[in-house]
Amino acid sequence: MTDYNAIDRLTAQLSRAQSGASERQADVAGRLHRARRVVVLSGAGISVASGIGTYRGAGGLWENPELLEAHQVESLPDSLPIIWSVKGPMRARALAARPNPAHMALVKLERQLVGRGGSLTIITQNIDGLHQRAGNTEVLEMHGSMMRSRCYDRMCALKPFEDTYAPPAGEVPICPRCQVQPLRPDVVLFGEALPWSVISAAESALHQAEVLLVVGTSGAVSSATTTIDSAAAYGVYCVLINKEPWDHPHPHVNETLLGPAEEVLPRLVFLADAQAGPA
Ligand SMILES: [Zn+2]
Repeated sequence: MTDYNAIDRLTAQLSRAQSGASERQADVAGRLHRARRVVVLSGAGISVASGIGTYRGAGGLWENPELLEAHQVESLPDSLPIIWSVKGPMRARALAARPNPAHMALVKLERQLVGRGGSLTIITQNIDGLHQRAGNTEVLEMHGSMMRSRCYDRMCALKPFEDTYAPPAGEVPICPRCQVQPLRPDVVLFGEALPWSVISAAESALHQAEVLLVVGTSGAVSSATTTIDSAAAYGVYCVLINKEPWDHPHPHVNETLLGPAEEVLPRLVFLADAQAGPA
């Protein structure tokens, strides 16, 4: 039996999406529709609608000089009480948070691409684990994950492990393996190198991609600009999706779509699915 209600709902949804779509959105949707391999670089802006704040800008974490100093690698291990006093509550907030429509749109995009023999790789600057919880399968965490902990002593046999424990203020958890050294969150601090395995996997994904979507990140984050530079070197079409334009536009960004990720991404993915982009 034909489900006319479902058809009506779909038609209404399609016409709403098409009527609100600009020519530029339609062009990007067309590129996504034709692409087999897409890379997304996501930053803090994608998690704002999940209630997780950004680090930079007014009210951001890095506005506080004491916190900024504590997150420098040379401040370890003395700064671990401060780091945990920040990361503990953040961990609790991330656990309580839910993926938002921007995350869910990327799950849908991955299914579309995989369905035609392609792939979606997400390179994320975020440490909240929300892409994985939404259901994306190929997520490269450039800055580590606050949902993992590891021993402060690199020589300790303990491997980084999934950890949901949010220590109360003032507590620094001790390594369960050596029972001597403190634990630290498995995140990249200022002055630490980005994980090599992630960088090389990201390079190889960019090398094969047709489109790079840069979502919700500031041009002030060096990993954003270097990713765009790499993409440009491989001839990948680069689209910036951000709430506001960058202070210093990157010369290799081919298209900019302004707006919150949780609005722009679902619309783009819906349009790509509806094959509404130019052929
Ligand atoms: Zn240890």
